[in-house]
Amino acid sequence: MSLTDADLDALVAAAVTDGGVDFDGLRLDREPEGYVLETPAESRAGLSEAEFREGLAAVEEYATNWLYWRESVDGAGTARRAFLRWCERAPLEFALEAGGGAFDAETESEPLEVPARYEALRDGVDRRWGQLCITARFVDVDDPSGERVYDLWHVEDADTDVADLEVHDDPRDAREIATYDEDGRYRPLKTAPTLASGWAFTGLSGAELVEAVDYAYPATVANWHRERRGELDVDHWLETAERQTGIYDVVDELPREAVEWTAEACCVDSQCLRRREWHFDEGDELDADGGDGPFPCREPCSLVVAAARKWAILESEAERTWHLELTTSELNQLSELIDAVADGRVDEIREADVNDGANRYRARYLRAKRFDDGGGLEATEVEDAPDADD
Ligand code: SF4
Repeated sequence: MSLTDADLDALVAAAVTDGGVDFDGLRLDREPEGYVLETPAESRAGLSEAEFREGLAAVEEYATNWLYWRESVDGAGTARRAFLRWCERAPLEFALEAGGGAFDAETESEPLEVPARYEALRDGVDRRWGQLCITARFVDVDDPSGERVYDLWHVEDADTDVADLEVHDDPRDAREIATYDEDGRYRPLKTAPTLASGWAFTGLSGAELVEAVDYAYPATVANWHRERRGELDVDHWLETAERQTGIYDVVDELPREAVEWTAEACCVDSQCLRRREWHFDEGDELDADGGDGPFPCREPCSLVVAAARKWAILESEAERTWHLELTTSELNQLSELIDAVADGRVDEIREADVNDGANRYRARYLRAKRFDDGGGLEATEVEDAPDADD
């Protein structure tokens, strides 16, 4: 039995407070006839305090579950608490607003009631958050006092022995881990799918887990929570663009179709794991795929705004017609080169694979053949054809 006298005292005290306890299937109350103890499996009323304490010991899972969420987690209504409940597939504690984070079987799974959740927590409940894998589990499997701890690691390390990973216990270490990619390059966008693997946090408290996740993916928990409550305040493109000043003042000149291309270039899942919820304007949706991740993006980020500034300047140029000579294969090769760079595939192309148009030797050959002395493709501008009347 893992309920201590202090635990039972806390449960009795909660039962006699206004409204008693009504939490995760456990109802405790004191009526004029005596104590009330209810779970989905049984309902008892008119109990003496001694019978009530005995009854609590018999529904230990419900009792320790209440103690964990009341004493260890607390923070009613906070994003931290909601996230920790999501981590172990506990039911929501608030009603979903219309349009507010609709239930998604892929990312949510069916919520578990207390007995099923306790069974699952003995093995560990795994959840995925971007490239993070989170396991919620009991501190002590043999004597579940209800206390949970959380492990955190990269999804790619799911099958790696923890002894082979760099183990951390300070959540602030997640900031350093998230700063550079596998090749040591700075990651300007923290939600890009380029998080380095090879590390693990084990035995974190709930507060530590949320802190570590927040270092890895800033504000994702808070925005996820706002969305689920129907409170996500989305700033669409126009609103964001129009409030830019200084060198970014030009971004509101980006044509609407170029905003589509911007979203397609930057915000799809292959580039960013946030689910884009902003559009061109309220009631004017972009067609580009917004992604499927659990956490939303509520406004164009600074990386997108910076890129949009460049595109706004480039899009102000007039289009011209050029004459350049290429074989059909060379034209196709230009497409392959652009695709390879856009998909970040260049480093994967083997030197010997000259069938790939983005192969380094193929690219060097094309440059040797088609570039002029100025170091660019040899091309001449085609003047507009004169009007028939001229
Ligand atoms: S604006 Fe796009 S790239 Fe930036 S965080 Fe949002 S979804 Fe990601």
